[in-house]
Amino acid sequence: MAGIRSYNRRVLVTGGAGFLGSHLCERLLARGDEVVCVDNYFTGARANIAHLLGNPRFEAIRHDVTFPLYVEVDEIYNLACPASPIHYQHDPVQTTKTSVHGAINMLGLAKRLNARILQASTSEVYGDPVVHPQPEEYWGNVNPIGPRSCYDEGKRCAETLFFDYHRQHRVQIKVMRIFNTYGPRMHPNDGRVVSNFIMQALRGEPITVYGDGAQTRSFCYVDDLIDGMMRLMDSDPGVTGPINIGNPGEFTMLELAERVIALTGSHSAIEHRLLPQDDPRQRRPDITKAKTLLGWEPAVPLHEGLARTIDDFRHRFFA
Ligand code: NAD
Ligand code: UDP
Ligand code: UDP
Repeated sequence: MAGIRSYNRRVLVTGGAGFLGSHLCERLLARGDEVVCVDNYFTGARANIAHLLGNPRFEAIRHDVTFPLYVEVDEIYNLACPASPIHYQHDPVQTTKTSVHGAINMLGLAKRLNARILQASTSEVYGDPVVHPQPEEYWGNVNPIGPRSCYDEGKRCAETLFFDYHRQHRVQIKVMRIFNTYGPRMHPNDGRVVSNFIMQALRGEPITVYGDGAQTRSFCYVDDLIDGMMRLMDSDPGVTGPINIGNPGEFTMLELAERVIALTGSHSAIEHRLLPQDDPRQRRPDITKAKTLLGWEPAVPLHEGLARTIDDFRHRFFA
């Protein structure tokens, strides 16, 4: 497992200037790896990686993964893709291209280099799940033609490509299904529930709960998530995934709103808005595989992770 491999690797992180990517770059540098960060800055920002630019083991390249990329690396983490519904629905054709053409290019690169490649897939491959909690064996319940489909089906097709490159070309793959993740450095306007609620609470504006707020999500703190991601990359070659990484704690959106109000000490009221189309009613990972194959489980409970995230938002936007 992790101990056998050298820690002086050259690692490519696509989407490295995004929320998760920037935390991953930081952690890889901290353990001594060289990091090549590739990003087109569609939803990421140079500010997210500004503190890394002085590190001689860090290199940032502006590049769109839908175009071929020729670099020399030992490992590839493929995170490039807008992740929030507002962002990925802004240019849905580009979202599918990023997932599908991006996966083909990065798999072609991995094949040429004989490099390991990890795909940041998503719990959205389960769609609006009728099996609860979701184990990896569940094939999902996804609308192929709705407003979320560019993301959900793009990510599903990327998984298909990963397994076909593995079977056909022996590429060493790691497919990770990420459940809702939150933490410092989230984009304030990405429309995701955690960032929305925190910004609204800190501004004293109404907290916008979509629908009746009874729909559930499971929220994983970013440090736990990155730990799981790196463990998966370092796992035995036989471990291809797909593997769920997320926090099994399950909360309704109303519960989340109440927690954010309590932790910020805000006087914001809760206001209900229309539920978006195809909004999944429930979501919670079955993480048995992550526990047994990676020895991983999340350590940061929601109240603690939310407190850290609220601190970060206060410092960035209300200092
Ligand atoms: P993010 O939007 O902050 O990061 C995505 C990054 O990819 C951004 O920096 C963006 O500029 C970059 N990007 C987008 N299209 C690109 C392209 N064509 N070429 C190069 N770069 C491109 O989102 P995030 O939350 O950090 O998500 C990272 C990955 O994890 C995504 O693949 C996402 O689908 C996946 N994921 C995230 C979550 C979550 O809760 N955060 C959940 C499931 C899956
Ligand atoms: N590719 C890349 N960098 C590389 C090797 C390949 O970006 O170092 C891209 C290339 O554009 C190609 C894609 O990956 O279209 C898929 O590569 P593969 O070798 O599987 O297919 P082919 O080159 O035969 O189309
Ligand atoms: N949501 C909400 N208010 C908001 C933003 C989102 O009630 O201001 C709800 C949304 O309808 C969904 C859940 O919160 O049920 C999670 O939404 P998000 O966009 O963060 O993630 P995803 O739906 O992709 O899991």
